[in-house]
Amino acid sequence: MRAETTILVPGKIPAYAADRIGERFRLVGIDKADPALLTEEMKRSVVGIASATIVNAAFIDALPNLRIIANFGVGYDGVDAAHAGTRNVMVTNTPDVLTEEVADTAIGLLINTVRELPKAESWLRAGRWRGEGPYPLTRGTLRGRSVGIFGLGRIGRAIARRIEAFGLPVSYHNRRQVQGVDYEYHPTLLSLAEAVDTLISVAPGGAATEKIVNAEIFTALGANGVFVNVGRGSAVDEAALAEALEKETILAAGLDVFADEPNVPEALLARENACLLPHVGSASVHTRQAMADLMVDNLIAWFTKGEALTPVAETAHVRSGG
Ligand code: NDP
Repeated sequence: MRAETTILVPGKIPAYAADRIGERFRLVGIDKADPALLTEEMKRSVVGIASATIVNAAFIDALPNLRIIANFGVGYDGVDAAHAGTRNVMVTNTPDVLTEEVADTAIGLLINTVRELPKAESWLRAGRWRGEGPYPLTRGTLRGRSVGIFGLGRIGRAIARRIEAFGLPVSYHNRRQVQGVDYEYHPTLLSLAEAVDTLISVAPGGAATEKIVNAEIFTALGANGVFVNVGRGSAVDEAALAEALEKETILAAGLDVFADEPNVPEALLARENACLLPHVGSASVHTRQAMADLMVDNLIAWFTKGEALTPVAETAHVRSGG
Protein backbone atom coordinates (compact mmCIF):
# COMPACT_ATOMS: atom_id res chain seq x y z
CA MET A 1 0.00 0.00 0.00
CA ARG A 2 1.46 3.34 -1.04
CA ALA A 3 0.99 6.50 0.97
CA GLU A 4 -0.44 8.22 -2.13
CA THR A 5 -3.23 5.65 -2.49
CA THR A 6 -6.18 8.04 -2.74
CA ILE A 7 -9.56 7.24 -1.20
CA LEU A 8 -12.51 9.47 -2.03
CA VAL A 9 -15.27 10.05 0.52
CA PRO A 10 -18.42 11.45 -1.12
CA GLY A 11 -20.86 12.79 1.48
CA LYS A 12 -20.56 11.91 5.15
CA ILE A 13 -19.02 8.92 6.89
CA PRO A 14 -18.37 8.66 10.65
CA ALA A 15 -15.40 10.75 11.86
CA TYR A 16 -13.86 7.61 13.33
CA ALA A 17 -13.85 5.95 9.88
CA ALA A 18 -12.39 9.04 8.21
CA ASP A 19 -9.62 9.19 10.85
CA ARG A 20 -8.70 5.55 10.25
CA ILE A 21 -8.67 6.04 6.47
CA GLY A 22 -6.50 9.14 6.92
CA GLU A 23 -3.95 7.13 8.91
CA ARG A 24 -3.39 4.68 6.03
CA PHE A 25 -4.36 6.50 2.84
CA ARG A 26 -4.62 9.92 1.26
CA LEU A 27 -8.23 10.97 1.88
CA VAL A 28 -10.12 13.44 -0.32
CA GLY A 29 -13.76 14.47 0.10
CA ILE A 30 -16.63 15.95 -1.88
CA ASP A 31 -20.21 16.79 -0.79
CA LYS A 32 -21.90 13.99 -2.74
CA ALA A 33 -21.16 11.39 -5.41
CA ASP A 34 -21.71 13.75 -8.35
CA PRO A 35 -19.27 13.53 -11.30
CA ALA A 36 -19.49 17.34 -11.67
CA LEU A 37 -17.75 17.75 -8.30
CA LEU A 38 -14.68 15.71 -9.29
CA THR A 39 -11.49 17.62 -10.09
CA GLU A 40 -9.16 16.41 -12.85
CA GLU A 41 -6.67 15.43 -10.15
CA MET A 42 -9.32 13.30 -8.40
CA LYS A 43 -10.23 11.60 -11.68
CA ARG A 44 -6.58 10.63 -12.11
CA SER A 45 -5.75 9.67 -8.52
CA VAL A 46 -8.83 8.12 -6.90
CA VAL A 47 -8.56 4.33 -6.61
CA GLY A 48 -11.03 3.74 -3.80
CA ILE A 49 -14.35 5.09 -2.48
CA ALA A 50 -15.52 4.87 1.12
CA SER A 51 -19.13 5.92 1.41
CA ALA A 52 -22.57 5.58 2.92
CA THR A 53 -24.33 7.20 -0.01
CA ILE A 54 -25.60 6.57 -3.53
CA VAL A 55 -22.84 5.64 -5.99
CA ASN A 56 -24.35 5.22 -9.45
CA ALA A 57 -22.93 3.98 -12.75
CA ALA A 58 -22.12 7.49 -14.03
CA PHE A 59 -20.03 8.23 -10.94
CA ILE A 60 -18.19 4.91 -11.22
CA ASP A 61 -17.46 5.63 -14.89
CA ALA A 62 -16.12 9.09 -14.05
CA LEU A 63 -13.26 7.48 -12.09
CA PRO A 64 -11.16 5.44 -14.56
CA ASN A 65 -8.68 4.17 -11.95
CA LEU A 66 -11.30 3.15 -9.39
CA ARG A 67 -10.61 -0.30 -7.91
CA ILE A 68 -12.93 -0.60 -4.89
CA ILE A 69 -16.07 0.88 -3.36
CA ALA A 70 -16.25 0.17 0.39
CA ASN A 71 -19.85 0.69 1.47
CA PHE A 72 -20.69 1.66 5.05
CA GLY A 73 -23.65 -0.62 5.78
CA VAL A 74 -24.76 -4.12 4.88
CA GLY A 75 -27.47 -2.80 2.55
CA TYR A 76 -25.80 -1.61 -0.64
CA ASP A 77 -28.84 -0.92 -2.81
CA GLY A 78 -27.50 2.63 -3.31
CA VAL A 79 -24.38 1.32 -5.06
CA ASP A 80 -24.64 0.08 -8.64
CA ALA A 81 -22.72 -3.07 -7.76
CA ALA A 82 -23.67 -4.88 -10.97
CA HIS A 83 -22.13 -2.06 -13.00
CA ALA A 84 -19.06 -2.00 -10.74
CA GLY A 85 -18.65 -5.72 -11.41
CA THR A 86 -18.57 -5.14 -15.17
CA ARG A 87 -15.90 -2.46 -14.66
CA ASN A 88 -13.83 -4.86 -12.49
CA VAL A 89 -14.39 -2.65 -9.45
CA MET A 90 -14.75 -4.47 -6.11
CA VAL A 91 -17.71 -3.54 -3.85
CA THR A 92 -17.70 -4.42 -0.15
CA ASN A 93 -20.35 -4.02 2.57
CA THR A 94 -20.44 -4.53 6.35
CA PRO A 95 -22.35 -7.75 7.12
CA ASP A 96 -22.55 -9.63 10.45
CA VAL A 97 -21.10 -6.89 12.70
CA LEU A 98 -24.52 -5.18 12.85
CA THR A 99 -26.77 -8.24 12.80
CA GLU A 100 -27.55 -8.54 16.52
CA GLU A 101 -28.00 -4.77 16.98
CA VAL A 102 -30.52 -4.52 14.14
CA ALA A 103 -32.36 -7.60 15.45
CA ASP A 104 -32.55 -5.94 18.89
CA THR A 105 -33.98 -2.81 17.27
CA ALA A 106 -36.55 -4.84 15.35
CA ILE A 107 -37.79 -6.47 18.55
CA GLY A 108 -37.91 -3.12 20.37
CA LEU A 109 -39.86 -1.62 17.49
CA LEU A 110 -42.25 -4.58 17.42
CA ILE A 111 -43.02 -4.28 21.14
CA ASN A 112 -43.30 -0.49 20.97
CA THR A 113 -45.74 -0.84 18.08
CA VAL A 114 -47.92 -3.50 19.64
CA ARG A 115 -47.88 -2.27 23.25
CA GLU A 116 -47.67 1.47 22.43
CA LEU A 117 -44.82 2.09 24.90
CA PRO A 118 -43.67 5.42 23.35
CA LYS A 119 -47.24 6.74 23.58
CA ALA A 120 -47.55 5.47 27.16
CA GLU A 121 -44.36 7.32 28.11
CA SER A 122 -45.68 10.50 26.48
CA TRP A 123 -48.84 10.05 28.57
CA LEU A 124 -46.75 9.98 31.75
CA ARG A 125 -44.54 12.92 30.74
CA ALA A 126 -47.56 15.03 29.85
CA GLY A 127 -48.91 14.57 33.40
CA ARG A 128 -51.90 12.59 32.16
CA TRP A 129 -51.27 9.59 34.46
CA ARG A 130 -51.65 11.89 37.47
CA GLY A 131 -54.39 13.96 35.85
CA GLU A 132 -56.52 11.41 33.99
CA GLY A 133 -55.44 8.02 35.30
CA PRO A 134 -53.74 5.01 33.74
CA TYR A 135 -52.84 4.83 30.07
CA PRO A 136 -55.64 3.00 28.20
CA LEU A 137 -55.23 -0.76 27.77
CA THR A 138 -53.61 -1.56 24.43
CA ARG A 139 -55.63 -3.36 21.80
CA GLY A 140 -52.44 -5.01 20.65
CA THR A 141 -50.45 -7.75 22.36
CA LEU A 142 -47.71 -10.15 21.30
CA ARG A 143 -49.61 -12.97 22.96
CA GLY A 144 -51.12 -15.38 20.47
CA ARG A 145 -49.31 -13.83 17.51
CA SER A 146 -47.82 -15.68 14.59
CA VAL A 147 -44.78 -13.98 13.07
CA GLY A 148 -43.67 -13.99 9.44
CA ILE A 149 -40.21 -12.83 8.45
CA PHE A 150 -39.73 -11.43 4.96
CA GLY A 151 -35.98 -11.89 4.35
CA LEU A 152 -34.66 -14.70 6.54
CA GLY A 153 -30.98 -13.84 6.06
CA ARG A 154 -28.43 -12.89 8.71
CA ILE A 155 -30.62 -10.31 10.47
CA GLY A 156 -33.86 -12.18 9.79
CA ARG A 157 -32.52 -15.27 11.53
CA ALA A 158 -31.35 -13.22 14.53
CA ILE A 159 -34.87 -11.76 14.77
CA ALA A 160 -36.39 -15.24 14.44
CA ARG A 161 -34.28 -16.55 17.34
CA ARG A 162 -35.59 -13.75 19.53
CA ILE A 163 -39.20 -14.37 18.46
CA GLU A 164 -38.80 -18.07 19.27
CA ALA A 165 -37.71 -17.09 22.80
CA PHE A 166 -41.03 -15.22 23.12
CA GLY A 167 -42.82 -18.50 22.48
CA LEU A 168 -44.29 -17.41 19.15
CA PRO A 169 -44.28 -19.45 15.90
CA VAL A 170 -42.06 -18.17 13.05
CA SER A 171 -42.44 -18.63 9.31
CA TYR A 172 -40.71 -16.84 6.45
CA HIS A 173 -40.43 -15.94 2.79
CA ASN A 174 -37.22 -15.76 0.74
CA ARG A 175 -36.72 -16.54 -2.92
CA ARG A 176 -34.92 -19.69 -1.79
CA GLN A 177 -35.75 -21.99 1.10
CA VAL A 178 -33.14 -21.83 3.88
CA GLN A 179 -31.54 -25.15 4.76
CA GLY A 180 -31.12 -26.13 8.39
CA VAL A 181 -34.03 -24.17 9.91
CA ASP A 182 -37.38 -25.54 11.07
CA TYR A 183 -39.41 -22.41 10.33
CA GLU A 184 -42.24 -22.86 7.84
CA TYR A 185 -41.28 -21.65 4.36
CA HIS A 186 -43.63 -19.75 2.06
CA PRO A 187 -42.68 -19.51 -1.62
CA THR A 188 -44.54 -16.19 -1.97
CA LEU A 189 -44.84 -13.12 0.24
CA LEU A 190 -48.64 -13.24 -0.16
CA SER A 191 -48.85 -16.79 1.15
CA LEU A 192 -46.72 -15.74 4.14
CA ALA A 193 -48.95 -12.72 4.82
CA GLU A 194 -52.07 -14.92 4.64
CA ALA A 195 -50.57 -17.34 7.17
CA VAL A 196 -49.46 -14.80 9.84
CA ASP A 197 -50.76 -11.69 11.62
CA THR A 198 -47.35 -10.09 12.20
CA LEU A 199 -44.99 -9.41 9.32
CA ILE A 200 -41.40 -8.25 9.85
CA SER A 201 -39.64 -7.08 6.69
CA VAL A 202 -35.85 -7.26 6.68
CA ALA A 203 -35.40 -7.74 2.96
CA PRO A 204 -32.94 -5.62 0.96
CA GLY A 205 -33.92 -2.71 -1.28
CA GLY A 206 -33.51 -2.62 -5.06
CA ALA A 207 -35.61 -3.42 -8.11
CA ALA A 208 -36.52 -6.97 -7.03
CA THR A 209 -38.30 -5.80 -3.86
CA GLU A 210 -39.62 -2.39 -5.01
CA LYS A 211 -43.06 -1.79 -3.38
CA ILE A 212 -43.49 -5.54 -2.96
CA VAL A 213 -45.25 -5.01 0.40
CA ASN A 214 -48.47 -3.59 -1.05
CA ALA A 215 -52.20 -3.26 -0.37
CA GLU A 216 -52.79 -6.95 -1.09
CA ILE A 217 -50.25 -7.91 1.57
CA PHE A 218 -51.88 -5.64 4.18
CA THR A 219 -55.33 -7.07 3.40
CA ALA A 220 -53.91 -10.56 3.81
CA LEU A 221 -52.43 -9.67 7.22
CA GLY A 222 -55.89 -8.70 8.40
CA ALA A 223 -57.44 -6.41 11.01
CA ASN A 224 -55.19 -7.68 13.81
CA GLY A 225 -52.19 -7.32 11.49
CA VAL A 226 -48.93 -5.67 12.50
CA PHE A 227 -46.27 -4.71 9.98
CA VAL A 228 -42.69 -3.92 11.05
CA ASN A 229 -40.02 -2.77 8.62
CA VAL A 230 -36.30 -2.67 9.41
CA GLY A 231 -35.19 -3.62 5.87
CA ARG A 232 -35.68 -0.90 3.27
CA GLY A 233 -38.50 1.61 2.81
CA SER A 234 -38.42 1.10 -0.96
CA ALA A 235 -39.84 -2.40 -0.43
CA VAL A 236 -43.11 -0.88 0.82
CA ASP A 237 -45.93 0.90 -1.01
CA GLU A 238 -46.07 3.66 1.62
CA ALA A 239 -49.30 5.18 0.29
CA ALA A 240 -51.00 1.78 0.56
CA LEU A 241 -49.60 1.35 4.07
CA ALA A 242 -50.89 4.77 5.19
CA GLU A 243 -54.31 3.87 3.80
CA ALA A 244 -54.28 0.45 5.51
CA LEU A 245 -53.44 2.18 8.82
CA GLU A 246 -56.13 4.84 8.33
CA LYS A 247 -58.85 2.37 7.38
CA GLU A 248 -57.62 -0.09 10.03
CA THR A 249 -57.17 -2.79 7.42
CA ILE A 250 -54.27 -3.61 9.77
CA LEU A 251 -53.87 -2.75 13.45
CA ALA A 252 -50.50 -0.99 13.47
CA ALA A 253 -47.09 -0.56 11.85
CA GLY A 254 -43.56 0.05 13.14
CA LEU A 255 -41.13 1.57 10.67
CA ASP A 256 -37.40 2.24 10.95
CA VAL A 257 -36.89 2.83 7.22
CA PHE A 258 -38.62 4.93 4.56
CA ALA A 259 -38.55 5.19 0.78
CA ASP A 260 -37.20 8.76 0.64
CA GLU A 261 -35.20 9.30 3.84
CA PRO A 262 -35.16 11.57 5.74
CA ASN A 263 -38.54 12.56 4.29
CA VAL A 264 -41.37 10.67 5.98
CA PRO A 265 -44.74 10.92 4.19
CA GLU A 266 -47.26 13.18 5.94
CA ALA A 267 -49.82 10.41 5.57
CA LEU A 268 -47.70 8.18 7.85
CA LEU A 269 -46.84 10.98 10.30
CA ALA A 270 -50.59 11.56 10.70
CA ARG A 271 -51.25 7.99 11.84
CA GLU A 272 -51.44 7.34 15.59
CA ASN A 273 -51.16 3.59 14.95
CA ALA A 274 -47.71 3.99 13.33
CA CYS A 275 -44.55 3.85 15.45
CA LEU A 276 -41.84 5.71 13.51
CA LEU A 277 -38.06 5.66 14.02
CA PRO A 278 -35.38 7.64 12.10
CA HIS A 279 -33.42 4.64 10.69
CA VAL A 280 -31.65 3.74 13.93
CA GLY A 281 -31.40 -0.02 13.39
CA SER A 282 -27.62 -0.20 13.80
CA ALA A 283 -27.15 3.22 15.36
CA SER A 284 -25.16 2.59 18.56
CA VAL A 285 -21.58 3.81 19.07
CA HIS A 286 -20.50 0.18 19.50
CA THR A 287 -21.98 -1.13 16.27
CA ARG A 288 -21.28 1.90 14.08
CA GLN A 289 -17.61 1.62 15.14
CA ALA A 290 -17.56 -2.07 14.21
CA MET A 291 -19.06 -1.17 10.81
CA ALA A 292 -16.47 1.57 10.30
CA ASP A 293 -13.67 -0.84 11.18
CA LEU A 294 -14.92 -3.42 8.69
CA MET A 295 -15.27 -0.81 5.94
CA VAL A 296 -11.70 0.43 6.48
CA ASP A 297 -10.31 -3.09 6.95
CA ASN A 298 -11.76 -3.96 3.54
CA LEU A 299 -9.81 -1.08 1.98
CA ILE A 300 -6.61 -2.08 3.76
CA ALA A 301 -6.96 -5.77 2.82
CA TRP A 302 -7.66 -4.85 -0.81
CA PHE A 303 -4.67 -2.56 -1.19
CA THR A 304 -2.22 -4.71 0.83
CA LYS A 305 -3.24 -8.30 0.05
CA GLY A 306 -5.42 -7.87 -3.04
CA GLU A 307 -8.34 -9.47 -1.22
CA ALA A 308 -11.58 -8.00 0.09
CA LEU A 309 -12.88 -9.28 3.43
CA THR A 310 -16.58 -8.97 2.62
CA PRO A 311 -17.19 -8.64 -1.13
CA VAL A 312 -20.81 -8.38 -2.28
CA ALA A 313 -22.16 -11.13 -4.52
CA GLU A 314 -22.15 -9.00 -7.70
CA THR A 315 -18.38 -8.42 -7.45
CA ALA A 316 -17.21 -11.71 -5.91
CA HIS A 317 -15.44 -12.46 -9.23
CA VAL A 318 -13.40 -9.22 -9.25
CA ARG A 319 -9.65 -9.68 -8.83
CA SER A 320 -7.28 -6.97 -7.65
CA GLY A 321 -4.90 -7.31 -10.59
CA GLY A 322 -7.59 -7.11 -13.29
P1 NDP B 1 -28.92 -11.02 3.97
O1 NDP B 1 -28.45 -10.91 2.57
O2 NDP B 1 -28.24 -11.95 4.91
O3 NDP B 1 -30.48 -11.38 3.98
C1 NDP B 1 -31.39 -10.90 3.03
C2 NDP B 1 -32.50 -11.94 2.90
O4 NDP B 1 -33.52 -11.41 2.05
C3 NDP B 1 -32.00 -13.24 2.29
O5 NDP B 1 -32.47 -14.29 3.07
C4 NDP B 1 -32.63 -13.26 0.89
O6 NDP B 1 -32.94 -14.59 0.52
C5 NDP B 1 -33.88 -12.40 1.09
N1 NDP B 1 -34.24 -11.72 -0.15
C6 NDP B 1 -33.45 -10.92 -0.89
N2 NDP B 1 -34.09 -10.49 -1.98
C7 NDP B 1 -35.33 -11.04 -1.93
C8 NDP B 1 -36.47 -10.98 -2.78
N3 NDP B 1 -36.45 -10.27 -3.92
N4 NDP B 1 -37.57 -11.66 -2.41
C9 NDP B 1 -37.58 -12.39 -1.29
N5 NDP B 1 -36.54 -12.48 -0.44
C10 NDP B 1 -35.43 -11.82 -0.75
O7 NDP B 1 -28.88 -9.53 4.53
P2 NDP B 1 -28.92 -9.02 6.06
O8 NDP B 1 -29.85 -9.87 6.84
O9 NDP B 1 -27.53 -8.83 6.55
O10 NDP B 1 -29.54 -7.55 5.82
C11 NDP B 1 -30.84 -7.44 5.26
C12 NDP B 1 -31.20 -6.00 4.96
O11 NDP B 1 -31.47 -5.29 6.16
C13 NDP B 1 -30.11 -5.16 4.29
O12 NDP B 1 -30.06 -5.37 2.89
C14 NDP B 1 -30.54 -3.75 4.62
O13 NDP B 1 -31.39 -3.25 3.60
C15 NDP B 1 -31.35 -3.90 5.90
N6 NDP B 1 -30.68 -3.28 7.04
C16 NDP B 1 -31.32 -2.26 7.72
C17 NDP B 1 -30.71 -1.67 8.81
C18 NDP B 1 -31.40 -0.59 9.58
O14 NDP B 1 -30.72 0.24 10.19
N7 NDP B 1 -32.73 -0.56 9.63
C19 NDP B 1 -29.36 -2.03 9.23
C20 NDP B 1 -28.79 -3.13 8.48
C21 NDP B 1 -29.45 -3.71 7.42
P3 NDP B 1 -32.98 -15.03 -1.04
O15 NDP B 1 -31.73 -14.50 -1.68
O16 NDP B 1 -33.08 -16.53 -1.00
O17 NDP B 1 -34.20 -14.41 -1.61
